[in-house]
Amino acid sequence: MKPFAYVRATTLREAADAYAAHPGSRYLGGGTNLVDLMKLGVENPAALVDVSRLPLEEITELPDGALRVGATVRNSDLAAHPRVRTHYPLLSQALLSGASGQLRNVATTGGNLLQRTRCGYFQDPSKPCNKREPGSGCGARDGIHRDHAVLGHSEHCIATHPSDMAVALAALDAEVELYGESGTTRTVAATEFHRLPGDRPEQDTVVRPGEIITAVLLPAPAPGAVSLYRKARERASYAFALASVAVVLELDDGRVRRVALAFGGLAHRPWRATTAEARLTGAAPQPDTVRAAVDAELAAARPLRDNAYKIPLARNLACDAIATLAGAP
Ligand code: SF4
Repeated sequence: MKPFAYVRATTLREAADAYAAHPGSRYLGGGTNLVDLMKLGVENPAALVDVSRLPLEEITELPDGALRVGATVRNSDLAAHPRVRTHYPLLSQALLSGASGQLRNVATTGGNLLQRTRCGYFQDPSKPCNKREPGSGCGARDGIHRDHAVLGHSEHCIATHPSDMAVALAALDAEVELYGESGTTRTVAATEFHRLPGDRPEQDTVVRPGEIITAVLLPAPAPGAVSLYRKARERASYAFALASVAVVLELDDGRVRRVALAFGGLAHRPWRATTAEARLTGAAPQPDTVRAAVDAELAAARPLRDNAYKIPLARNLACDAIATLAGAP
């Protein structure tokens, strides 16, 4: 491991100033991904600016019924929060399906969003990878890519985003709050927070240099809305999604008043299934109708040599989740 400076910030201003003072620095939250990448030689920051002690560890109910989740709230605490379990069960389910209990006790809300792909070529500095080293090529495209993207990938990168939590946030229409170096704050829709790779796969998100995630904002739950997170993986725990689905469903007299559907494990970011949502809105959620809507969404998929299995897997997850929420026997 290469030497690096360490700065512990106690205010946002201190953190932003320390970041600006050390070109090539990284913010450190729980460190469950970043420290691993440093050990592998993938990340070599000049300095770590520790933001884990910033006063951002509160979960606050806002007057309009929304929930503000501070960026340093631990994944375990967020999953166990009574209001999350009651009103946003898909978020609790997504969090509990990720990592191990020990990791969830340390990992933060902000860090979860910023975790990087687990593509094996990205994690091995001896291999070509456009995300780690722009212009070096993509080892996975003609190599081992069983876990990789079927939607939204580019010739430059076929990686998937590993977060379960981010998929639930996409379906919930959450927002991410960011504090900039100039002291200003902005919010970004969770659906826009992560990027598709295009010709700049090294850039995972729309976060600007020096910006700090300060909170995630969950809109007030709609009356009668039900939700679910389902994940398919190689083993029962401590594994990333081959495919996953987050669904929020509102029914009115047996018809879909509103549905939000997001896929994980299929793309470089959580994939909000707007085509399927449009087809389902106003329809009775009968199995054939749901399947046709999901198939219309997945028609955009471009599977690679070894990952076409993800398409029926994702379809079945989505159809089963919607049927469960709709009360199908
Ligand atoms: Fe790198 Fe993306 Fe290719 Fe993986 S898929 S080797 S992360 S460029």
